[in-house]
Amino acid sequence: MTEPATTSDFIRDIIRRDNEQGTYGGRVQTRFPPEPNGYLHIGHAKAITVDFGTAEEFGGTCNLRFDDTNPDTEETEFVESIVADIEWLGFRPTRVLHASDYFGQLYEWAEYLVSQGLAYVDDQDTETISAQRGGFGKSGVASPYRDRGVEENLDLLRRMKAGEFEEGSRVLRAKIDMAHENMALRDPVMYRIRHSHHFRTGGDWWIYPTYDWAHGQSDAIEGVTHSICTLEFDTHRPLYDWYLEHLPLPGDQPKQIEFARLELTHTVTSKRRLAKLVADGTVDGWDDPRMPTLSGLRRRGYPARAIRAFCTEIGTTRTNSRQNIEALESFVRRELNASAQRRMAVLRPLRLVIDNWPSGLDGTPLVEYFDVANNPENADDGTRQVAFSGELWIEADDFAEVPPPKFFRLSPGREVRLRGAYLVTATSVDKDADGNIAAVHATYDPETRGGDAPDGRKVKSTMHWVSAAHAVDITAALYERLFTAPVPGEATGEPLDDLNPDSREVVSGRAEAALADAAPGQVVQFERLGYFAADPQTHLLFHRTVGLRDEWAAIQRRQA
Ligand code: ATP
Ligand code: MG
Repeated sequence: MTEPATTSDFIRDIIRRDNEQGTYGGRVQTRFPPEPNGYLHIGHAKAITVDFGTAEEFGGTCNLRFDDTNPDTEETEFVESIVADIEWLGFRPTRVLHASDYFGQLYEWAEYLVSQGLAYVDDQDTETISAQRGGFGKSGVASPYRDRGVEENLDLLRRMKAGEFEEGSRVLRAKIDMAHENMALRDPVMYRIRHSHHFRTGGDWWIYPTYDWAHGQSDAIEGVTHSICTLEFDTHRPLYDWYLEHLPLPGDQPKQIEFARLELTHTVTSKRRLAKLVADGTVDGWDDPRMPTLSGLRRRGYPARAIRAFCTEIGTTRTNSRQNIEALESFVRRELNASAQRRMAVLRPLRLVIDNWPSGLDGTPLVEYFDVANNPENADDGTRQVAFSGELWIEADDFAEVPPPKFFRLSPGREVRLRGAYLVTATSVDKDADGNIAAVHATYDPETRGGDAPDGRKVKSTMHWVSAAHAVDITAALYERLFTAPVPGEATGEPLDDLNPDSREVVSGRAEAALADAAPGQVVQFERLGYFAADPQTHLLFHRTVGLRDEWAAIQRRQA
């Protein structure tokens, strides 16, 4: 389901070279390794398109591997959402695997390293250990336990595993080099003692592997060839290699390749911070349409295809940068312009009464039906019937009693087009006791059926409308940026300081009857207003996906 690759990138170049040299016998196997401690976000979509897309392009395989090595933060709910989000994006893992399935093998390998004199139990606490690591240009200090004998180390490790010791009282460390210029190699921690329940292994384990100790080994166990991750692991690569070089591996040694994370303006892509928004109740859960999670974007109406196309288009590099969110929105708009049916809805309704509209013999206003194209971009979407009568809803913004300069919509004495129906001229207004406009009166020209005058006279604006007698009540959630600053946290260091307190406005609107049939999740264009997604659960609740104006085009013009 990947879009064809238009350009090459350094990752594909590495794989091509490996294939030419026969490094992995032409085999390409990648993996996507999320920690199930939250929902996937737009940054993960980039990693997914790289991991799955690259494997697919080379006829290889890509597993989903849960990096479930931290029992305190991981849950089955997250596992299930991750599986669903990857499928929604359009990728299918070759296999679904868990690092926790390798706890036994990892432990055996840890004993092996101990037996080789390459790992030791340190009885110091983590603060002391990190204070001893030194810094750039400053060598670390060896632990007093660094030169323990193999037998004592094995005994202590076995007792750590058996749950004999307090949490935090001991760790297992690799014995590498306390003076190494790369801090990651200064005797890194392999195992921590945790007396927590793990969502898969329950109470089986009292010690848990660190990311570094688990990751490369899991790759090797599964037969991964190219282990693609983000740039912050760059300095860990020598450690990744060190472990693999010192173990009796079942097969080839996988290769870690790093690329720059996807960051977006006005967006935070950190599970920890997103989790805080959920926990604080700032948003209504992980799938709140304002969230940059895949489940939030899906509920907001973002098509998976648009997200994939965006991730492909921005390319894969080793340079950190931040993409404009308007660029992603532009992909969304392009996709929806082709796929979304058009409907008429009025979000700030004002009553328009056509005084010369005819009534039938029984005294009730006549109803006329117009055949309207569902999507002018796609004839296959057919047409629908839209009712028109003498009382309509129009947008309050589309009327001005005293029009300001350059206001060409409806005002007393001014003629406008009601889209696809008739030309109407406003005549007067009704006001309530407070002086607010309660209704606008108008006359229509019966000769202009369809919206054009036979004498060719022009009007300056075309407005959408909804027949009052046929309207359904809808609720629309209008969203602004969740973060006001383009780079959240740039000023204070804390992205959550830039939260927009007014990121959602909920309005009650009126819409043409066809909207009552919107399928859960269906995205439609409200004419002149934007794209709106029907909520998957609540009937007649619509989330504004994006507006109609392509701000990305304007940004690009400004940058050119
Ligand atoms: P977070 O900081 O949000 O918790 P993470 O990197 O800890 O992200 P993981 O679940 O460990 O989250 O990530 C799984 C994979 O997704 C990793 O390979 C990681 O490098 C990649 N990834 C995470 N965030 C991004 C991002 N913003 N852009 C590209 N890839 C990402
Ligand atoms: Mg992580």
